[in-house]
Amino acid sequence: MNYISTRGQAPVLNFADVLLAGLADDGGLYVPETLPTFSQDEIASWAGLPYNELAFNVIKPFVDDCIKASDLKTMIDETYAGFNHIGVAPMVQLGGNEWILELFHGPTLAFKDFALQLLGRLMDHVLSERGERLVIMGATSGDTGSAAIEGCRHSKHLDIFIMHPYNRVSEVQRRQMTTLLNDNVFNIALEGNFDDCQEMVKDSFADQSFLQGLKLGAVNSINWARIMAQIVYYFSSALAVGGPHREVSFSVPTGNFGDIFAGYLAKQMGLPIKQLVVATNRNDILHRVISGNDMSKGTLEHTLSPSMDIMVSSNFERLLFDVYGRDGAAIADLMKRFKTESVSLESGRWEAVRELFDSYAVDDATTCDVIKQVYQETGYLLDPHTAIGLKAARECWKDKTIPMITLATAHPVKFPEPIVKAGLESPALPAHLADLYEREERFTVLPKDLASVQAFVASNVHRD
Ligand SMILES: *Cc1c(COP(=O)(O)O)cnc(C)c1O
Repeated sequence: MNYISTRGQAPVLNFADVLLAGLADDGGLYVPETLPTFSQDEIASWAGLPYNELAFNVIKPFVDDCIKASDLKTMIDETYAGFNHIGVAPMVQLGGNEWILELFHGPTLAFKDFALQLLGRLMDHVLSERGERLVIMGATSGDTGSAAIEGCRHSKHLDIFIMHPYNRVSEVQRRQMTTLLNDNVFNIALEGNFDDCQEMVKDSFADQSFLQGLKLGAVNSINWARIMAQIVYYFSSALAVGGPHREVSFSVPTGNFGDIFAGYLAKQMGLPIKQLVVATNRNDILHRVISGNDMSKGTLEHTLSPSMDIMVSSNFERLLFDVYGRDGAAIADLMKRFKTESVSLESGRWEAVRELFDSYAVDDATTCDVIKQVYQETGYLLDPHTAIGLKAARECWKDKTIPMITLATAHPVKFPEPIVKAGLESPALPAHLADLYEREERFTVLPKDLASVQAFVASNVHRD
């Protein structure tokens, strides 16, 4: 399978190259040239498969012959065997057709493990075959960092540098990153906010000369392989409630538009999805675009759902590429204008987005109310991101005979603040993290200065 850039000017790559690449050379994001599609009968035949077997069926066509099928199978099996729930992505019924898809049973208790546990293995495999090394640089507002480090820390061919905004991630989140003390793991606490971190990573990718010959790889959701791995649980959850012979809807707590984009792809691949609801917090650019064709950067606000505190949702470009008829030049022009001004989508294009997605934005006070109300009604404790998803689901749900599945993107223990604010007791850490507060931490505080960050990276990489 070939992969092409959303801006139309970068080389066409195969899966292995896309896996190791960051942004495309032209500033775009890679997407498959054509999507695999599955018939209703084929999807139906997967009912009851264990998660890892379903994952292999969905992922195989994207990887193509870049990786031997038996090796791919082993990596997928190992990835999901490391989850702490036999069902990997179990469903919980809150009421009638209202479902929660629990995506937090991986090692770091957030959905990002689904992709990053696999990504680390895939990268290591390809690098080992090529006899190459790669340097991972990533920015995190919380969950990506720990999941990426967990996914890469056993890799022999990678060094990983993760930057988080100093003093702006929760203590659980920080400790989940900084207590992983492998030799190839480096945590940087940047004196700035998440967007500053992201900017540093972007600038480093744009000019990699500071690495003197080594190359950078990406673990954020611009990496195609992450999106790919996330498509799987749309199929598994739909099958669990009677799909594909029955339509299903999804509500997805959204930041960078990676997770929900995977849902959109599942739909294009043949899964009968009725509604896709984009749930945001007060950083609501996606809600403003979808509901009112207003694509303007607001100011970044810190909320009780920090993993969705994002001003520019990078993966939205992948959707726009489709909506603009895969016209790379038009996307390049739109994104260039968006850098400096507010834009709106061409008429016709915006309506197409509107057809595909519903959206809703939820503030902090409502997030706490929903956590409290759902706990009182059902005894089920939501994390704040999931609470936003559920609220949006309830607001946007058009046909109650169609199951509505809200993606639970994090375990509530990761974000105790809103739970305590809601007057509830914060849950205990699960067994494998019970001693998190006693573990040794390691991180380096650096100023908001590109040269300092790059010097730190260059002096710590392993060159064999
Ligand atoms: C990353 C994250 C999100 C947002 O996912 P995107 O793919 O960036 O849209 C939502 N909730 C949690 C808990 C996350 O970690």
